Amino acid sequence: MESSQYDIAIIGGGILGLSTAMQLADRAPRWRVAVLEKEEDLATHQTGHNSGVMHSGIYYRPGSQKAQFCVAGRNNLVRFCEENEIEYQQCGKVIVAIEESELGRLQDLYERGTANGVPGLEIVGPERLKEIEPYTTGLRALWAPHTGIVDFTRVATAYAGKFQQAGGDIFTGAPVRKITRPGGSGGSLALETPKGILQAKHLINCAGLYADRIASMSGENVQVRIIPFRGEYYTLRPESHHLVSGLIYPVPDPQFPFLGVHFTRNIKGHVEAGPNAVLALRREGYRKRDFDLGESLGSLTYPGFWKMALKYWKIGLGEVYRSYNKRVFLRDLQRLLPEIKDSDLAGGGSGVRAQAVAKDGSLLDDFSILQGRDAIHVLNAPSPGATSSLAIGEHIAGLALENFGAPD
Ligand SMILES: Cc1cc2nc3c(=O)[nH]c(=O)nc-3n(C[C@H](O)[C@H](O)[C@H](O)COP(=O)(O)OP(=O)(O)OC[C@H]3O[C@@H](n4cnc5c(N)ncnc54)[C@H](O)[C@@H]3O)c2cc1C
Repeated sequence: MESSQYDIAIIGGGILGLSTAMQLADRAPRWRVAVLEKEEDLATHQTGHNSGVMHSGIYYRPGSQKAQFCVAGRNNLVRFCEENEIEYQQCGKVIVAIEESELGRLQDLYERGTANGVPGLEIVGPERLKEIEPYTTGLRALWAPHTGIVDFTRVATAYAGKFQQAGGDIFTGAPVRKITRPGGSGGSLALETPKGILQAKHLINCAGLYADRIASMSGENVQVRIIPFRGEYYTLRPESHHLVSGLIYPVPDPQFPFLGVHFTRNIKGHVEAGPNAVLALRREGYRKRDFDLGESLGSLTYPGFWKMALKYWKIGLGEVYRSYNKRVFLRDLQRLLPEIKDSDLAGGGSGVRAQAVAKDGSLLDDFSILQGRDAIHVLNAPSPGATSSLAIGEHIAGLALENFGAPD
């Protein structure tokens, strides 16, 4: 770290930290901005382990930040991909009602998506569904032609490139281990990393799975805890790829829209089936056997964890059961794609979601971006965070411009 005095330090080189950095460099070129990333490469956690879906904005409560940022973010992202020659496909998505009892919720989703400004939504019958997804059967489906797929790691890397071209600094292999204020309150922050100490007047915390820790380290009284949930996927063997043309989803439980296994064709042409959602015993625990005593105790000693467990134990156990039982996973997949067989499925990857849980055990549903005295903390940015990355970065850059004062 040659020159270590900055106006703003952004912790986290995922898609949100990098989008914010790029937009700050554009809107406030006089500010000296640095990004600190603990890994040697950028975008290796949630950004590099997600489903790659550019959501169109159907599920989210009208007026919520998710609804606003997803719809605006998706449109901006499509433009960004076109301007920067990043491959994306607008393959469309079907949300399939299999039982009569799901038809009401399908109609609600149509109305919600329309209220959010999602274009082109249509409820289709079985014949049209067969034209879109020939191997899927259902009573009716919601067709969302604007949903697409992209490689979010490529997008994040492009944000990083633009930030650096504008003169911004990115330090990788630089985990922030301690944050102090050597000059007392009102003075600069000192961010300690193994590569040296970086001084910054302001902090933007985009640390994903560790955002609550960074917020506490900076002296914020954080009211939530990040609980990590691993999502595990199978992949379809190449000879079975023809079973899925685009994106096939079930009608979600409105309380848990992120649950419910689905099929996702990604931009590299692979088809993923999943994910489930099981408690991870390490924040970056991508394998079942990954365990960290301190981090597990951190979850288990949080009162909100037990309140959450009490509320949702049945659903949680179901997810764990499915995690260890391929037959159950397959049965759920067959609801959407009756022809799929055990032999079509090969082992797949996983991702870990950073889910903020409040002290009363409730799962934060919307994005949560907290404005502190000299810091901004992104405390909850689940899906569709990647789709929304340009809108979230724009929002954070706006907050910084409003609250951090002019550079010297
Ligand atoms: C399984 C899964 C599927 C998803 N699918 C989709 C999807 O299809 N579409 C969509 O829009 N969204 C999806 N999401 C959500 C999306 O991936 C996230 O909203 C988004 O990636 C969040 O970006 P981020 O930059 O906040 O977090 P991250 O990408 O996790 O970045 C945080 C960074 O902070 C770094 N960091 C942490 N602690 C420190 C420290 N002390 N010092 C320095 N650096 C630190 C980490 O190493 C990491 O690189 C999915 C998420 C998951 C987990």
